[in-house]
Amino acid sequence: MSELSNKGLGTRCVQGGYTPGNGEPRQIPIIQSTTFKYDTSEDMGKLFDLEASGYFYSRLQNPTNDYVAAKLAELEGGSAAMLTSSGQAAIFMALFNICEAGSHIVASSSIYGGTYNLISVTMKKMGVDVTFVTPDCTDEELNAAFKDNTKVLYGETIANPALTVLDIERFAKAAHAHGVPLMVDNTFPTPVNCRPIEWGADIIVHSTTKYMDGHGAAVGGAIIDSGKFDWMAHKEKFPGLTTPDESYHGITYAEKFGKEGAYITKCTAQLMRDFGCIQSPQSAFYLNLGLESLHVRMPRHIANAQAVAELLSSHKKVKNVNYPGLKTDKYYDRAMKYMGNGGCGVVSFEIEGGRAGAEAFLKKLRLAAIETHVADARTCCLNPATSTHRQLNEEQLITAGVPAGLVRISCGLEDTDDLVADIKQALE
Ligand SMILES: *Cc1c(COP(=O)(O)O)cnc(C)c1O
Repeated sequence: MSELSNKGLGTRCVQGGYTPGNGEPRQIPIIQSTTFKYDTSEDMGKLFDLEASGYFYSRLQNPTNDYVAAKLAELEGGSAAMLTSSGQAAIFMALFNICEAGSHIVASSSIYGGTYNLISVTMKKMGVDVTFVTPDCTDEELNAAFKDNTKVLYGETIANPALTVLDIERFAKAAHAHGVPLMVDNTFPTPVNCRPIEWGADIIVHSTTKYMDGHGAAVGGAIIDSGKFDWMAHKEKFPGLTTPDESYHGITYAEKFGKEGAYITKCTAQLMRDFGCIQSPQSAFYLNLGLESLHVRMPRHIANAQAVAELLSSHKKVKNVNYPGLKTDKYYDRAMKYMGNGGCGVVSFEIEGGRAGAEAFLKKLRLAAIETHVADARTCCLNPATSTHRQLNEEQLITAGVPAGLVRISCGLEDTDDLVADIKQALE
């Protein structure tokens, strides 16, 4: 951890992760090199044995990525982090780092459509089973979902697109009572609004494609470890971390790298080695440009979302509005506890007229574009039932909190008055 770890969040956004030495580049350098040169085979051998840290091949690790990952660790208050090629890659690798055939996951049902599919279809094919719980389940229902082979509890701090807010503290307690970590996707609030590790979460995943990049420029993901979960205390549950890895001369990650380093080191050494879904250094550079202004941008996204949500909630063509920053929202109290505001720039609402009503509204918008994206500088809209969630049937749509007439608006950084006027004219 650098000396910036205990500075303010804005200072960490701007200067975290990378501190140049005398005469070195002020901006994070893009190390656009697949490989790295060594003087002796012994030097290189130490890297392959995980006896020394360093770089040998950019399929596993690259210095540009590691500077940016270090900034993310500082922002979330974690001990170690890594970048991946996408948010989906981050979520898969984060789960697969502690799950294997025969494992079981307990997950919130209110999550991103891609993650729902990853867990319920693709990982199922790999022999990993899942039990979904709603984010508002009772303690009894939550506890009943755990099995002997459960390895992780998974949820989204603010779910995309349902905008449910996870009771992080309660979910962390339940996970820990069953000897497993709580893993959360913190893409929507970002660490500017919510720091799940402070509430007991153990592992954080991100789609950095969203607010962190913030400009719709580069797809990416990240995994951040709190360094707080005691793998050795649950030795039999996590053999991958607590027993020798023969592919690295029998080292045991949890012993050699401790609580702070074991999880990310294993994920890099095994999963990046075997899957290679690393972020390109060029994309990591773009991501860092976004991070430098994250703390300045997020309040504007939230102010715009609050204004749009208030307009929608008083409009007769709108059935209901989901925005955790609205006092009338089911998740208002939880959002105030964990984020202190609406948490993100995304608002969703159910329009009169179902699917057809949503289509007519989207057609009339001028500033907001129809996009399969959220969380960048330009306002965009989507009807999830016909796009991101189209693989779900009616019943699953309801479980995921996504009725057919739902419209998701990701409020960008435009002037509030212009945005509100555009939505008003499209509704009328
Ligand atoms: C977009 C998104 C993902 C997937 O990330 P990609 O970068 O598109 O792979 C995962 N979780 C949430 C909450 C998202 O919004």
